[in-house]
Amino acid sequence: MMSSTVILILGLLPAALFVLWPLFSGDAAEIEPAPAEDPRAVFDRQKQAAYAAIKEAEFDRRTGKLSEDDHEALTARYRQQALEAIAALEKLSVVKGRRPAPEVIAVRFCPACGTKTAPGANFCGSCGTSVANARASA
Ligand SMILES: [Zn+2]
Repeated sequence: MMSSTVILILGLLPAALFVLWPLFSGDAAEIEPAPAEDPRAVFDRQKQAAYAAIKEAEFDRRTGKLSEDDHEALTARYRQQALEAIAALEKLSVVKGRRPAPEVIAVRFCPACGTKTAPGANFCGSCGTSVANARASA
């Protein structure tokens, strides 16, 4: 009596697992949090996709699948997409401070008297000390 029950359970187990497995694996996929995507990666992908589409349109034009007009219209649209992605990427890099503003690079101070020197100047406007070395090493 006891052994037949065990055999029955063991016999049903693989079938039960087989039926229930999609539920478990489905749950696992839903519970796992989606990785927070870097917006830069999103725009980079948009840029790459636009470039690829432009190449494809060019190929289709050469093989006669696209007329000149259609090719022109498609290319203009994809080029716009690429430009938007590039603009978004540049905006992101400015916001994140990856690219220093030009005025930060240009402004220097005289090592002798501390006067702010003119952008691109080689000598201090106040005391005449050469600031070329300071510019190069800073
Ligand atoms: Zn000076």
